[in-house]
Amino acid sequence: MARLYEYQGKDIFKKSGITIPEGQVVKTPEDARNAAERIGKPVVVKAQVWAGGRGKSGAVRFADTPDEAEKVAGEILGMEVKGLEVKQVLVEEKLDIAQEFYAGVIINSAREVRAPVVMFSTEGGVDIESVPEDKIAMLTVDVLRGIQPYDTLNMALSVGFSGKALRQLGDVIYKLYNVFKNYDCRTVEINPLVLTKDGKVYAADCRMAIDDAGVFRHPELGIRIGREFLKEPTEFDLMAWTFEEEDFRGTSYVAQMASESELKQGGYIGYHGIGGGAAILGVDALNKVGLKAADYADTSGNPTASKVYRVAKIILSMPNIEGYFLAGFLMANQEQWHHAHGLVKVLREEIPKRPGFPVVLLLSGNKEKESQEILQEGLKGLPGRIEIYDREHVYDAKFIGGRVRALVDEYRKERGL
Ligand code: GDP
Ligand code: MN
Repeated sequence: MARLYEYQGKDIFKKSGITIPEGQVVKTPEDARNAAERIGKPVVVKAQVWAGGRGKSGAVRFADTPDEAEKVAGEILGMEVKGLEVKQVLVEEKLDIAQEFYAGVIINSAREVRAPVVMFSTEGGVDIESVPEDKIAMLTVDVLRGIQPYDTLNMALSVGFSGKALRQLGDVIYKLYNVFKNYDCRTVEINPLVLTKDGKVYAADCRMAIDDAGVFRHPELGIRIGREFLKEPTEFDLMAWTFEEEDFRGTSYVAQMASESELKQGGYIGYHGIGGGAAILGVDALNKVGLKAADYADTSGNPTASKVYRVAKIILSMPNIEGYFLAGFLMANQEQWHHAHGLVKVLREEIPKRPGFPVVLLLSGNKEKESQEILQEGLKGLPGRIEIYDREHVYDAKFIGGRVRALVDEYRKERGL
């Protein structure tokens, strides 16, 4: 799921006829002051990060004057919300709230359903998981039929809303579904959807994520990687994404975990797992012996040798790593000789540049015997500390982790560290 920031989602709302508060996204306290001045009313200053619950973390603050807006923006910019650094804030007119609602569209991927579900609740502004189910109207959409404006009116009625704003609410929910559809969303949520004291309905918040497979249809959104990322992608991440973007044979999932300054502190291993869940075992194995994964990588789904090669190559490009670890902690049903070929090529290129470098390879599954032969034969005589393991140790994370540790210790000693 490729996430959008609140302000980006709100731009889409505006274009789609959903009313949003007047506002502007800024990067400095001075610009926050200017924005507040331009708005000319009390404002709310909101951290733009890919995390919910900003209200509770002090990352949504109010300001009555431009002076105050500058001050609170200064406090929010640079703070961390759930581990994410705030680099931008949204300055918006403060709404005079009479009532808060929740509106959202998600996908119910259960086998019997596999359809979008539109949700509306009069209990907005709180975590929707904490709202009792009978207070949430839910409509499973037949995607071929779509929905009609009366469907969403009925949703608001069905949870007991009967005020003057009924039509406005129905209209927003209806438009929200169309945003979901037109932008290939995975989820879109307005929480809170606000009814103001003067009787108008505004989307006061927006949480929106685009389906990875639909990202290419929306170049205007500027999403650089069609995949869920916790942080803005780094150069490393962007380069790794090119392996995937143009070649969907198998998957390569690669993300940078440690920054360059962290890598300098030592104790990081270039990490390469096979198969999502099993790859976690390898990270665990490293952590248990006091080492850390410099990156997270997973090549699975029968990737080509060239994909494996590229992934291993970028892993080995990280500065200051103290080893390379291929964690094939499963009996993969993919043909492992592609991994073997890719690895032979990359290690033959890289190991001569770094004599003594620790390399632990665990590879098992289909074509295991052939893969082992390719590795043994292909890596023979290279000047690294290379150990190759097969199914005998496939569930033995403790042993494998111990081997990485032992080789790293030898390598350190050799270099006088
Ligand atoms: P979240 O905590 O990350 O979901 O951030 P929200 O955008 O939902 O803001 C948190 C809370 O701040 C909301 O539930 C509202 O109660 C409050 N809030 C946000 N914008 C306004 C506003 O314009 N006026 C008022 N009075 N409250 C607001
Ligand atoms: Mn919210």
